[in-house]
Amino acid sequence: MIERLQKVLAHAGVASRRHSEELIKAGKVKVNGKVVTELGVKVDPARDRIEVNGALVQQEQKRVFLFYKPLRVITSMFDPQGRRVVADYFRSVPERVYPVGRLDYDTEGLLLLTNDGELANRLIHPRYEVDKTYVATVKGRPSPADLEKLRKGVKLEDGWTAPAKVRILSQDDIHTKLQLTIREGRNRQVRRMCEAVGLPITHLIRTKLAFLTLQGLKRGEYRELTRQELDRLR
Ligand code: URA
Repeated sequence: MIERLQKVLAHAGVASRRHSEELIKAGKVKVNGKVVTELGVKVDPARDRIEVNGALVQQEQKRVFLFYKPLRVITSMFDPQGRRVVADYFRSVPERVYPVGRLDYDTEGLLLLTNDGELANRLIHPRYEVDKTYVATVKGRPSPADLEKLRKGVKLEDGWTAPAKVRILSQDDIHTKLQLTIREGRNRQVRRMCEAVGLPITHLIRTKLAFLTLQGLKRGEYRELTRQELDRLR
């Protein structure tokens, strides 16, 4: 991604953005062998050779993975009780990737992991309103009124939920499979929403985030996002 030189230096951990500007103005920074003292210069960290005080600036490659989190795995890098964590699946990735948001221990499905802090912040910030789709298996048969409540918003202890898209996928005598699409990401939100209308969840999977799906992945597998997918997400 082409960005201003001072931003690239700051991202690489050379110095704060302000201090990076000082370094540039002081003639300490070279791009492809030439000293740059202007602040407006844009560079491509993947291609341009950037030096500060004669030392090459190494950019950590930004990586974004789509992971199919299995049940009974903690969305965390470490668990003091030694339970399985998502980081266990990424031991061979040299960059320090971490989860974007979280899925409960007893929820499976689509989870992104990245070392791109800006992207992660954007995806979890409610302002960007990324759709998240879940399939919840609930006990019972929801009435049209229950579905309407879920769609319009239900009152939880941390306030009313925003409108959601809800539809029935299938039903038998005991269970109903509901597809819910929400934009918020509160703690255990889908479980609490369903419980609030008297529908306890027996199984929960996140099937979609924005336009991304689990297609082609088995539980515990991951893949790196493609350039096209990244451009769409960013
Ligand atoms: N809602 C939940 O209740 N649990 C999750 O893991 C994600 C959304």
